[in-house]
Amino acid sequence: MVDMQLVFLGTSSGAPTVQRGLSSIALIRGAELLLFDAGEGMQRNFIKAGLAMNKKMKIFITHMHADHCVGLLGLLQTMELQGREKSIDIYGEPRLEEFLRENMRIIGFRLTFDIIVRKIEKEGVIVRERDYQVSCCQAMHSVPSFAYCLEEFDRPGVFNVAEARRLGIPEGDLYSKLQRGEDIVYGGQTIRSSQIVGRPRKGRKIGISGDTRPTDRLARFFKDCDLLIFESTYSQDKQEKAMENGHSTAAEAATIAKKADVDKLLLTHFSARYDETSLLVKEASAIHYNVEAAEDLKVVRVSYKQDS
Ligand SMILES: [Zn+2]
Repeated sequence: MVDMQLVFLGTSSGAPTVQRGLSSIALIRGAELLLFDAGEGMQRNFIKAGLAMNKKMKIFITHMHADHCVGLLGLLQTMELQGREKSIDIYGEPRLEEFLRENMRIIGFRLTFDIIVRKIEKEGVIVRERDYQVSCCQAMHSVPSFAYCLEEFDRPGVFNVAEARRLGIPEGDLYSKLQRGEDIVYGGQTIRSSQIVGRPRKGRKIGISGDTRPTDRLARFFKDCDLLIFESTYSQDKQEKAMENGHSTAAEAATIAKKADVDKLLLTHFSARYDETSLLVKEASAIHYNVEAAEDLKVVRVSYKQDS
């Protein structure tokens, strides 16, 4: 079991407001922090949220608009001042590295840790760890933009120790074989793994849209997400504006969440015109049954399906 929670560090689009900072989402999974986007000034909420500056960390940038990537510079500098030592992998489109290196050169700051900028040139899996992967999919915005999904691999089923003991199987190698799904022969009889080990337990899948129009491609990419965070810049009466600017309305976010059979939809990236988001939630809730609006420093725990 790995604990997983999201913290919204910025939920405004384009310009910050009194209540909302610019786009940034921290996903804390066990000992690791995965950060999606870093709008200007996001490190303030990073600190307010009590997130550790020296944690194992990966950063994913959806696109090269200021409200999604300029905050990287401030965040890195703050980490440097805090004496961070661990290196960070940063994923984004090919110009991200030049943006970072040039700014760091001009501003003249050096880091106490390495940054490894990983260019994303095509869709697919970009991170594969022992128990999860991160993949990306082309979004549809005014500049090249990627959506991301974190998917955990299924965990083995529950091991029925009482049954294993009843059958007299000694602990050790034979237990491991059964846990891996292998059948064993013990005391002259075949014991099937399925007698002792339950069905694999589903991992969790989290989707993050970045800035985008809704597309069928994204609906497929976000299929069966436990939690989808989708941009919801406008209400329905601003549909044309959404189309013009490469953004989505709350209703469009909900439609894509419904198409993708997503369990829970969190709306974020609100236009500064909305002081509060009840209209957006109302419009989305008419389409999808489980909708919430993000707000700065909101924490959302992501449980395993069986636990919820
Ligand atoms: Zn944006």
